[in-house]
Amino acid sequence: MRHLPSLSSVALVCSLAFAAGAVQAAPDAKLLAAAEKAQPALIENLKEMVLIESGSLNSEGLMKMADLTDGRLKSLGFQTRRVKTTTGAPAEIVVGTMKGSGKRKFMLQAHMDTVYPAGILNTQGYKVDGNRIYGPGIADDKGGIAVILASLKILLDSGWKDFDTLTVLLNTDEEVGSGASGELIASTADQQDYVLSFEPTAAKSVAKGESLLLGAAGIAKATMDVKGRAAHAGAAPEMGRNALYELSYQMLQTKDLPKDIPGVTLNWTVATANGPLNQITEKAQALGDIRITQPGAEKKLDAALQAKVASGKLIPDTETTVKVDVNRPAFLAGDKGLAVAKKGQEIYKEIDRELGLAPMTGGGTDAGFAGRSGKATVVESFGLAGFGYHARDEYIEVDSIVPRLYLVTRLLQELGKQ
Ligand SMILES: [Zn+2]
Repeated sequence: MRHLPSLSSVALVCSLAFAAGAVQAAPDAKLLAAAEKAQPALIENLKEMVLIESGSLNSEGLMKMADLTDGRLKSLGFQTRRVKTTTGAPAEIVVGTMKGSGKRKFMLQAHMDTVYPAGILNTQGYKVDGNRIYGPGIADDKGGIAVILASLKILLDSGWKDFDTLTVLLNTDEEVGSGASGELIASTADQQDYVLSFEPTAAKSVAKGESLLLGAAGIAKATMDVKGRAAHAGAAPEMGRNALYELSYQMLQTKDLPKDIPGVTLNWTVATANGPLNQITEKAQALGDIRITQPGAEKKLDAALQAKVASGKLIPDTETTVKVDVNRPAFLAGDKGLAVAKKGQEIYKEIDRELGLAPMTGGGTDAGFAGRSGKATVVESFGLAGFGYHARDEYIEVDSIVPRLYLVTRLLQELGKQ
């Protein structure tokens, strides 16, 4: 198990490193001490948030989260506004802004909703066990919110003003596709130089070490509809045109199309054709899960689907239509994001830690909306190390708190100087 070295051992490690000719910089002792001092309050804040159940459909819980985070931001000196959701569960997105005296515009984003149903705390409560703290949503993404609030407190308490504007955006529907917040995230991000997104990083039990994320798959949905003709299945089946047969044919015809299109996958996962049993099927529909790892690949897939469906059919007189709807754009940090992540790696080295860079994950993230236009530099996974999200017994690792606070505060300082 790796421990964050104490200040004295950091000094020792660094002096040895310098003696050996290494280029590792010494840690910013004041900042590291501030991060260590901030840990108990961060855990308290985390506990308070975990004890608010805030599933994506839980309006009451989401409003409590909005009140809590809004209050915290105000006490840090932010001006805040609340944006009411217009789709999904009624709730309020929290946006805090602050003016500084530097040049760069920064946005820090995380989400207040969780995947869990109401009542989850009755069976999976808040629990401290050694280096782990358990609780629904504790890593995904309340840990991210806690790191944002604590990092900003450290920096602002120290008198840091090296920014033009600071924006904090906390949304309410990430776990259900960000239908109500995606456009707000995209348009707010377009006004920034840098967007740091605070989803969790994987815990030690499942990953070699903490990391930043440079890419995430986008998500889209394919819908294929077939219209046939109904007829009595016993008396006159030849009069019918079986939509279910045609749907099956078209699914098989199209399933391998992504093999020729880099950066996209398609899997038909749902099909419906509701009888009745004694009738040749009149209508059938299939839904396909699409994952996008290269921007624009979904458009090429759409074109290929249209061409394939138009090129032939199994059952004459049937009509097949297919469409592609993008739910969440792909996230690609690109060279700009990579440069920021590498700065993060140098900062982790200062405290004698390795920071991994994950090029791509299959899970979607709001970083996709933030980076959609390519205007802002976006990097993901500044939240706490944890595991069990979207599953059972979600937890964070306590020994990731100080390194993450150090990473975020030092990185903002560095980026603010540019
Ligand atoms: Zn999340």
